[in-house]
Amino acid sequence: MKILLVEDENSIAEDIRQALEAAGYVCDRADNGEDAWFLGDTENYAAIILDLGLPGMDGITVLKKWRAAEMNTPVLILTARGSWIERVEGIDAGADDYLPKPFRMEELLARLRALLRRAEGKASPVMRAGDLALDTAHMRVSVRGIPVNLTPLEYRALSYLMHRQGQVVSQFELAEHVYGHDEEKESNAIEVLIGRLRRKLKAGVIKTRRGFGYIIEEAEAPS
Ligand code: CA
Repeated sequence: MKILLVEDENSIAEDIRQALEAAGYVCDRADNGEDAWFLGDTENYAAIILDLGLPGMDGITVLKKWRAAEMNTPVLILTARGSWIERVEGIDAGADDYLPKPFRMEELLARLRALLRRAEGKASPVMRAGDLALDTAHMRVSVRGIPVNLTPLEYRALSYLMHRQGQVVSQFELAEHVYGHDEEKESNAIEVLIGRLRRKLKAGVIKTRRGFGYIIEEAEAPS
């Protein structure tokens, strides 16, 4: 897996590079914001480690430009110790995790592994549960490969349940994520919506947990 390391201080960069390579990663390095922006925009990295304090274009600006260009690679930012402002700005700009300097290399590697695992869970735009496939990139749903036409509301409800796969979602929570603030809805709207979804999917994939809500069970791990 190829990692982009953006760090202007040579000694820190060299330590991180060695640790990354020892842990089996391939590492590209940029020592300024402009090069970082270009590499992140043109190369396909599994993850990016981004120092925020950079000469020229600073790390927050680079990150904002990447995210504005819909670059979805997970980004771990390295922030100044104690600077909660930097952490907040970084996360708001689209960072997936942060690590205050100075840090233990073991912790950097552990956070990187966690980032890559999480990205893997969501890396494929197609989410599956039994015979059901939901393509989040194209907003398409199919059962055993046969396309199912859903209304936007039905799609939102199914998509939310799939993103929370393995967890029980209450009617209240589902309504929050399905309806806009000013959309009119009947008190039984979610039950009706789930009923329609079940008829369309014919897959029995949405289970009811009485008194708690709805759940789509985890897909079996591929053997
Ligand atoms: Ca720096």
